[in-house]
Amino acid sequence: MASHEVRIDSSRPLAQQPETGHNRWHPDIPAVVGCREGDEVVLETRDALDGQVGPQTAVQQVGGADLSVVHPLTGPVHVEGAEPGDLLIVEILDIEPDSYGFTVQIPGFGFLRDVFPDPHKIDWRIADGWATSPDLSGVRIPGAPFMGTIGVAPSRDLMARATAREQAAADGGGLALPPSAEGAVPAGGPITAEALRTVPPRENGGNVDIKQLVRGTRLLLPVYVPGALFSAGDAHFAQGDCETCGTAIEMRARLHVRFSVRKGEGSRLRGPRFERDDYFVSPEYAAPRRFLATTGIPVGPDDENRAEDLTLAARNALLAMIELLGERGYSRQQAYALCSVAVDLKISQVVDAPNPLVSAFLSLDIFT
Ligand code: ZN
Repeated sequence: MASHEVRIDSSRPLAQQPETGHNRWHPDIPAVVGCREGDEVVLETRDALDGQVGPQTAVQQVGGADLSVVHPLTGPVHVEGAEPGDLLIVEILDIEPDSYGFTVQIPGFGFLRDVFPDPHKIDWRIADGWATSPDLSGVRIPGAPFMGTIGVAPSRDLMARATAREQAAADGGGLALPPSAEGAVPAGGPITAEALRTVPPRENGGNVDIKQLVRGTRLLLPVYVPGALFSAGDAHFAQGDCETCGTAIEMRARLHVRFSVRKGEGSRLRGPRFERDDYFVSPEYAAPRRFLATTGIPVGPDDENRAEDLTLAARNALLAMIELLGERGYSRQQAYALCSVAVDLKISQVVDAPNPLVSAFLSLDIFT
């Protein structure tokens, strides 16, 4: 089996090495490497903020981070024989972590951005499968590296539909970003004007932030363009099922993948599926053995009951967990970050109207 590798110089931003990747989704972005089914492909990947945050970065600089360059992806990879309507099976063989990671809070971004308006940064040291930090004493986070952003190029039709529906969402007051040439790679030309931003996941995958996409998981994606044009980036060393503050333990990585194609089987998928045959992380972290949990129902601070609003229920479960971590001595921003990397939100029920209930789980095994 042949092997293919795309290497990057992570000391320079993607804009200075556009031959290694892109930070927008568009069907016309040319492949940087080609492979056949069964080949191993290795992609070196940049962190989600394209090198803007490091150990020396001051918190004030985090507040001024340029989000237009999110997410630098490595690729696309052209998979020979993949055609629109096919199913691409991405076998995740390995994700080699870096030795440094960060978790940041950027003003205007994150699930609780109205409650947390100030920048914040945690530096992580990654070694032997664990992340530890002088900025968050008393915890160690077990590693389960995965690619936050992973997907294939959209078709022209999907790109047009996504652009229209996201504009409608923005017009309705939602947080959605239209195409923008600022910070875009590739830079200039028709691709830049039309290409989709990488922030939301879509039918073609993308910024899915699914923490179970670790080594050994198979990701199934519908193919929209000839060659599938697969790309990935935004590796996370660890993340809670929520990524509350907008970032996980963000890092550079080396992704190893292998592809196979099932002819004609992609058209019935409405979006990514994924599957695996064993625990995605040691069992005590996959399903916490010892845990604390809080709950949320959709009742606002003014006692307004927003019927069947799962988002408000999730928000309240998280706010309750932040209170609980405060009782253990963490500042509110530390607690918010800890939720982002280690708290799993679970929908306990969606049926007991008007109050669906979300639980927030924190494994006690992370405390040292
Ligand atoms: Zn990320």
